Amino acid sequence: MSNPYWSPAIARLHPYVPGEQPKSTERLIKLNTNESPYPPSPKAQAALSAADLGDSLRLYPDPESTTLRETIAAQFKLKPEQVFVGNGSDEVLAHAFYSFFQRPEPLLFPDISYSFYPVYCDFYGIEPKCPPLRDDFSIAVEDYAIDGAGGVILPNPNAPTGRFLPLAEIEKLLELHPERVVVIDEAYVDFGGESAASLVDRYPNLLVIQTLSKSHALAGLRLGYAMGQAHLIEGLNRAKNSFNSYPIDGICQRVATVAIADREWLADNCTKVINTRERTCQALSELGFEIVPSSANFIFTKPPKITAEALYQALRERNIIVRYFNKPRISEYLRISIGTDEEMDALIAACREIL
Ligand code: PMP
Repeated sequence: MSNPYWSPAIARLHPYVPGEQPKSTERLIKLNTNESPYPPSPKAQAALSAADLGDSLRLYPDPESTTLRETIAAQFKLKPEQVFVGNGSDEVLAHAFYSFFQRPEPLLFPDISYSFYPVYCDFYGIEPKCPPLRDDFSIAVEDYAIDGAGGVILPNPNAPTGRFLPLAEIEKLLELHPERVVVIDEAYVDFGGESAASLVDRYPNLLVIQTLSKSHALAGLRLGYAMGQAHLIEGLNRAKNSFNSYPIDGICQRVATVAIADREWLADNCTKVINTRERTCQALSELGFEIVPSSANFIFTKPPKITAEALYQALRERNIIVRYFNKPRISEYLRISIGTDEEMDALIAACREIL
């Protein structure tokens, strides 16, 4: 669709289409966008009713998000100048694409990965180059030995497959492209992966991105962050300061600070989700589903007997929403977010009935 008022760049753009967000979730079992099934840390919720909250709104927020960045740095044994914060990791990713990947050389990322990456490539005029995943959906790092690449980005664990790439393999990638930035998008790392943040001090080309949207149950808050050596953070700040001088609002800064410090709640929440995931994998595989090993808060799975699309639709009719991708190589799979035990029992019962 075109419009005479639009710039040519916008007319050409293929925008990202987010997963369905129904207006009311009352009667729905919503397993399509990898949100937490449980509410966030009670301490984070309490921060929303603090007595001095009014000042967070009356005054401009700290443009540097100092306390929040200090809290993140302390968790990962980094310095505050090695941390950048943004409105969800999507915004941090957008700044990373602008600051590091906007070059004539192609950007490398797996053929099956986060569907926002091709959108950012489109937006910034970056050529994507996508080595295929192996048949078991694992990443073949040797395929990234491509001369003249403009950078590398991958989710770890990968989305939508849930497969985790060990840190030793990440180090090989970093060594393959010492002059270019390698972004590791760790949206799902707390559900069984291992963070590459521990490698930041050793690799000047590593940028690790995390979010509070999944394991911290704060998708509605919109807080993501990047960790890397100070020169990379400085690159991101240049882009950020040119978009918005007060990017993180005061309420978000204070709730996020409390949430990140509550490690005990985080560990408990992840354990619950992981236990439910393992139980669900077991039950689905007994029904004949093919399951890709998951280190995330979702399962990537191929149903027996009927197509993924038919199962998606049959579940939708029963008010259960999962994610179906009408794309080459993955159109026979569904991505199912891990909900509460009751929600997963309802999913398993529905699958049994449909099949
Ligand atoms: N990276 C990956 C791999 C994701 O799946 C998502 C969630 N759709 C994001 C980043 C963005 O998450 P958020 O903007 O909520 O932090």
